[in-house]
Amino acid sequence: MLSDFEEILIGMCVTLGMIHQCYYCEQIFNTKEKLYQHLEEHAKTKDEQEKEKQQNEKKQSKTSQ
Ligand SMILES: [Zn+2]
Repeated sequence: MLSDFEEILIGMCVTLGMIHQCYYCEQIFNTKEKLYQHLEEHAKTKDEQEKEKQQNEKKQSKTSQ
């Protein structure tokens, strides 16, 4: 099974062929490696946002009780 990250990369290669474009912010890279590194940054940011969201939800449930 492919991760979301791998699906994005494959989708970009199929659609654009030679140009590698970021799925999230539409930034263009001339190598797959550069796009890969860039997408890793997005993945990290997403993880951090989800952690923050979970922490906020915990805080909210505590204050509401
Ligand atoms: Zn991007």
